Amino acid sequence: MGRLIVLVLLVVLAVWLVRRALRAPGDQADLRKRAEAAGQLVRCAHCGVHLPRSEARDAGGLLYCSDEHARLGER
Ligand SMILES: [Zn+2]
Repeated sequence: MGRLIVLVLLVVLAVWLVRRALRAPGDQADLRKRAEAAGQLVRCAHCGVHLPRSEARDAGGLLYCSDEHARLGER
């Protein structure tokens, strides 16, 4: 009976390890996908800093990191 419990514990441990190993790369891909969905990185036309698309200011068809740079325009 004791051997059976040890065997079951080993199987559970093995399944857990395999699932964890399989999940790790998937999580990283998910993170990247989420980062892309949250905001594709764009470049400020004035200073060249990269920022998420959702935070960029759109002025005259160009993207800027701040209202200040949108006012100053392309450099
Ligand atoms: Zn800028």
